[in-house]
Amino acid sequence: MTSQDVRKQFLDFFASNGHLIVPSAPIVLKDDPTLMFNNSGMAQFKEYFLGNGTPKSNRIADTQKCLRVSGKHNDLEDVGFDTYHHTMFEMLGNWSFGDYFKKEAISWAWQLLTEVYKIPKENLYVSVFEGNPAENVPFDQEAWDIWKELINEDRIILGNKKDNFWEMGDQGPCGPCSEIHVDLRTADEKALVSGKSLVNNDHPQVVEIWNNVFMEFNRKADGSLEKLPAKHVDTGMGFERLCMALQGKTSNYDTDVFTPLIEKLEQITGFKYTSNDVILNDSEESKEQNKTNIAIRVVVDHVRAVAFAIADGQLPSNTGAGYVIRRILRRAIRYGFTFLNTKEPFVNQLVAVLANQMGEFFPEIKAQQQLVTNVIREEEASFLRTLDQGLQLLDKVIEDEKGKIVAGTKAFELYDTFGFPIDLTALILREKGLELDEVGFTVAMQEQKNRSRAASEVSTEDWSVLIPGNVETFVGYDQIENEVKIT
Ligand code: ATP
Ligand code: MG
Ligand code: MG
Ligand code: MG
Repeated sequence: MTSQDVRKQFLDFFASNGHLIVPSAPIVLKDDPTLMFNNSGMAQFKEYFLGNGTPKSNRIADTQKCLRVSGKHNDLEDVGFDTYHHTMFEMLGNWSFGDYFKKEAISWAWQLLTEVYKIPKENLYVSVFEGNPAENVPFDQEAWDIWKELINEDRIILGNKKDNFWEMGDQGPCGPCSEIHVDLRTADEKALVSGKSLVNNDHPQVVEIWNNVFMEFNRKADGSLEKLPAKHVDTGMGFERLCMALQGKTSNYDTDVFTPLIEKLEQITGFKYTSNDVILNDSEESKEQNKTNIAIRVVVDHVRAVAFAIADGQLPSNTGAGYVIRRILRRAIRYGFTFLNTKEPFVNQLVAVLANQMGEFFPEIKAQQQLVTNVIREEEASFLRTLDQGLQLLDKVIEDEKGKIVAGTKAFELYDTFGFPIDLTALILREKGLELDEVGFTVAMQEQKNRSRAASEVSTEDWSVLIPGNVETFVGYDQIENEVKIT
């Protein structure tokens, strides 16, 4: 089943069950001071849960372009290293605003997955909120009873407050959730692990695909809960993960959402990607291949985030959301530069493939294709010049260096002023027989981070609060930039 069909079937299914299908909200939020990017399907509807305004219909479904690179939901560090977290992804969702509740939501989710998409029932697990008396929240007996009719009890897992209870903040609407996980392990792998408590984090091939939130309580200022007069349903399913399950793959990058981009990147760079099913071992060759694979995943992931953000009106810049976009693009350029030997702009060449592939459903990417390509090309060219300048400066540092250890503060200066990636610095120094004082670098970085965090961002529950006036002081790279150590 192609990814286009997967998306269409989801929307058709909920339309046939009385849902109004609405378009995705833009990925960049211009009118919400508490959130930079749309990071879930419900963001565009949150006011309805707070009782402000009336939705066009009390049943809605859509696919939402999401970006999880800042605030509470920041998956950037995992992207490229695992095969199912992206910066930009689509979240398929269905909502009830004071209309249907757990019975319908759970039954429809199950019907869609097992009858329409035909995922074998024995490959699915679900979770139910276990309750937390200390915080006044009860076990979700109602969901348990509904699931029990549909799935074997040993596939219903109890989840804690962190994973299975959703709150908008310290006060306001909240409620338990039920997650659905899909088990993509081979029969051999399954035989190796016994016991029922297997959800993602326990095995990379057992992946959370769908979260169903049941908003039934209101948390009051004194911490107590009261029942909401109108109950709501808010669900979110990872589109790329669903495609992986339905296309018989074990990596999102092996689905048709990503393969055209990977093929183009292979063509541009001459490097080859190996699919998730190819087992890599401890050999030097495998280690090299693994670095290539990570870099390719980073690039094909990041181009989507950057392209959609630009198409939705967010140009790369030095502040706020524009800076986040710039950093994502630079991360892609840096991985290309270091691991795929790209010394010329290349990311922009992927935009045509993306527009071709996604343009039918998201016409904005086709309409803005030329602009997006040009902006990315310019950014690439200017960052590559910066990299070049940084390299010259580094040469000078190396020349001046009397001992064998280069001060971490020097590396930090390069990084902070030129956006010069620390792993690249370390690699070059190593090639010259010098060592980098990594502790010194980390300390300088931490000080910088503390400064910018204190100045610009207070992270709350689902919304990241930016203190007005201080947004402009958001400077420097995140610690993510030194994640990959080249050893
Ligand atoms: P995970 O535990 O895998 O990080 P989550 O619990 O943070 O996921 P939710 O906030 O429940 O995710 O979002 C609903 C669904 O969106 C998830 O079940 C998953 O399928 C998908 N999803 C979440 N984050 C990502 C991501 N970074 N990339 C791709 N899909 C994602
Ligand atoms: Mg997450
Ligand atoms: Mg989760
Ligand atoms: Mg979840």
